Amino acid sequence: MIFGKIEENEEVIKFNLELKCSNCNKKVPGGMKSGKNYFNTIEFNKEIEEFKKIYLCGICRDKNKN
Ligand SMILES: [Zn+2]
Repeated sequence: MIFGKIEENEEVIKFNLELKCSNCNKKVPGGMKSGKNYFNTIEFNKEIEEFKKIYLCGICRDKNKN
């Protein structure tokens, strides 16, 4: 999953997030990618926090559609 944006020719940083579904609390391993310029900035960390808060696992995401 790409997080934030990666510019053309920019170095890609791969990282793992401990994601937990905000609905059923299931733990999901999150393999993420981001651009080097964005990785670990204040903005980046804020967005990670928001992302974690609203994260839904695949099952709950499908339920929401129905
Ligand atoms: Zn879930």
